[in-house]
Amino acid sequence: MQVAEGVYQFKVPMRHNPLGYTYSYFLKESKTLIDAGIPDWGSLSALEKQLGEQGTHLKDLKRIIITHMHNDHVGLIEYIRQSVDVETLAHRIADERQEEQIRVYKEMYKNTSEELQLMGGGSFQQFLSRFEHAFREDPKPLKLDKLLEDGDTIDLDGISLKVIWTPGHAAEHICLHDMDRRILFSGDHVLPKITSHVSLHTWEKRDPLGDYLNSLNKVKDLPVDLILPGHEHNFTNLPERVSQLFKHHEARLVEVKEALKSGKSSVFDVAGAIHWDSRPWLVMDFWTKRMAATETYAHLIYLKNKAEINEKTIDGILHYSLA
Ligand SMILES: [Zn+2]
Repeated sequence: MQVAEGVYQFKVPMRHNPLGYTYSYFLKESKTLIDAGIPDWGSLSALEKQLGEQGTHLKDLKRIIITHMHNDHVGLIEYIRQSVDVETLAHRIADERQEEQIRVYKEMYKNTSEELQLMGGGSFQQFLSRFEHAFREDPKPLKLDKLLEDGDTIDLDGISLKVIWTPGHAAEHICLHDMDRRILFSGDHVLPKITSHVSLHTWEKRDPLGDYLNSLNKVKDLPVDLILPGHEHNFTNLPERVSQLFKHHEARLVEVKEALKSGKSSVFDVAGAIHWDSRPWLVMDFWTKRMAATETYAHLIYLKNKAEINEKTIDGILHYSLA
């Protein structure tokens, strides 16, 4: 579907994922894609078909600009590279994080198991151990050809894109601003309906929620009329959507503090006391609970950094309390 002059939005299907598809944006003049899709032959043929409708073949592609390194945005690149050596562009942090993640992955089962204990989810240990085999895959780094910095301008035929570094959903996340045409390619930083997953692992030393809220401020007043996201659907009112997202996180932070006030103290216990939009905590499967816990942990670390709460480790479990 054409969404602006020379800009096409491709739906790249995502099997086994409730989001259904990732958007890949095709900038026709410069034979450039913004993001790709999941690593799947069906996704590749869907992409090829949509390129074909624009009179372009996979082998004509010149480059792919990556908003962030999640599998549903970059996984398909290795498949594309079997036909054509496309140039890839991503934020500098993407490269640094790949090395770090490969190190973490070598001990992934051990790290995950330790994290479960620290978060107070030790009762799920037996469940996790059934999946030990799934932690043995070795991630291969994606070759990145050009590293971008905040404020860089990418000059393509007929389109100039300003790079806005928006860490939060991912540390390397960028949005791309087409200033001339008042368009923002928002990746997963701002989606129209769902709130981006902002999470943290116990082996990471970051404050992703603090980063995310700063990154929302960075984009909220941009002069744009059209927002082209990584999933769901296009939208127009950026300030309104950003203020909804601020409210969502404010409300969640209040919920976290209320849980602490009522005596909950471990990450899992606090997560269990929060209202989740997707489904109630009690009926979540283990992996969803774990995602909810890492999201809760990001909120706890944010409050800890603001000195609103205290952290203490007792018998190998992190405990939080109001300051
Ligand atoms: Zn995504």
